[in-house]
Amino acid sequence: MKALVYEGPGQKSWKDVPDPKITHPTDVIVKIDTTTICGTDLHILKGDVPAVTPGRILGHEGVGTITEIGDAVTTLKVGDQVILSCVSACGKCSFCKQGVYSHCLGEEGASGIGWIFGHLIDGTQAEYVRVPYAENSVYPLPQGVNTQMGTLLSDILPTGHEIGVQYGAVKAGDVVAVVGAGPVGLASIATAGLYGPSRVIAIDLDSNRVEQAKKFGATDGVVSSAADWKEQVLALTDGLGVDVAIEAVGVPQTFEMCLEIVRPAGHVANVGVHGKSVDFDLQNLWISNIVISMGLVNTDTLGTLLKLVAQGKIPAEHFISHTFALGDIMEAYDVFGRAAETKALKVMLNA
Ligand code: NAD
Ligand code: ZN
Repeated sequence: MKALVYEGPGQKSWKDVPDPKITHPTDVIVKIDTTTICGTDLHILKGDVPAVTPGRILGHEGVGTITEIGDAVTTLKVGDQVILSCVSACGKCSFCKQGVYSHCLGEEGASGIGWIFGHLIDGTQAEYVRVPYAENSVYPLPQGVNTQMGTLLSDILPTGHEIGVQYGAVKAGDVVAVVGAGPVGLASIATAGLYGPSRVIAIDLDSNRVEQAKKFGATDGVVSSAADWKEQVLALTDGLGVDVAIEAVGVPQTFEMCLEIVRPAGHVANVGVHGKSVDFDLQNLWISNIVISMGLVNTDTLGTLLKLVAQGKIPAEHFISHTFALGDIMEAYDVFGRAAETKALKVMLNA
């Protein structure tokens, strides 16, 4: 089959690789119908995620059709069209029992990023993928949700919701700021709206993305290259600071921006993947009672978000800016990587 292979920092190729095989009785093989590119793939390509080594097939989002099932799989069958969670999980280990699926111990004790596609196991930017622990890790695609919208549920919608909105403890009446209005930040904006915030402020360097954010429910936008960006944000909060600041970029500067605008006893929910360490002044945070959270998505809210997408309560269609054939993935990476010029959001790849 053909797949997009990470060849080391800055290098990737679309090439022939062996077809995936069932290696455990709980696996299925899925033929990819639609996949996409994530900001995390760009981090991996920069070398920001050293656990990903050359030879790995990238991609962790997608919808596909089951072509083979392992002997222990009873609830899925060949021909089922399913949404792939970016995280596969055994459902039985101590972390799974606590809902921390991204740290599933699995059978090989691979806690951490062990079962996330395109990290320590091969990913979805390919014609076929092996899905471990399939019964716990795929969701039937319901009628009325197409494969492109289903692909948004693999990662970005659960990530924006779980690591941004839920970890940030957004509640009715809150003023929420989202730093970074890329697909993940927009997913935080769209899902924050489910909790009744009084304002959702989109902050990005790119004025087009700030404008786009209004379609996802942002009430206000601030372009962060403006010298007075912070004053603009504080003016929207009567000078008090935001209740919840969500970081959805993954550079130290944007984490620091969140600390500058959060009110005392507010939450900073870090979603971005930081390739570098970030310094912060613990004394200042302590004296301000700031709560900081971060982490890997668990996709435990995928099923709930899927229902809301099916009901039209999350504006999923606005995420999709470009569609390519899977074989044109190198061009799709180029378009996604130059988003400021191309106005790309989610770039979909159809098989
Ligand atoms: P993206 O690169 O498409 O979007 C990032 C946005 O940040 C862009 O709109 C860009 O203009 C903006 N930006 C860059 N520098 C900025 C600055 N200084 N000030 C304001 N805005 C700035 O990325 P994405 O796909 O939306 O992903 C966002 C982050 O979420 C990435 O770091 C990604 O790796 C991470 N992520 C985390 C998880 C998780 O499990 N926690 C899952 C998926 C993605
Ligand atoms: Zn992702």
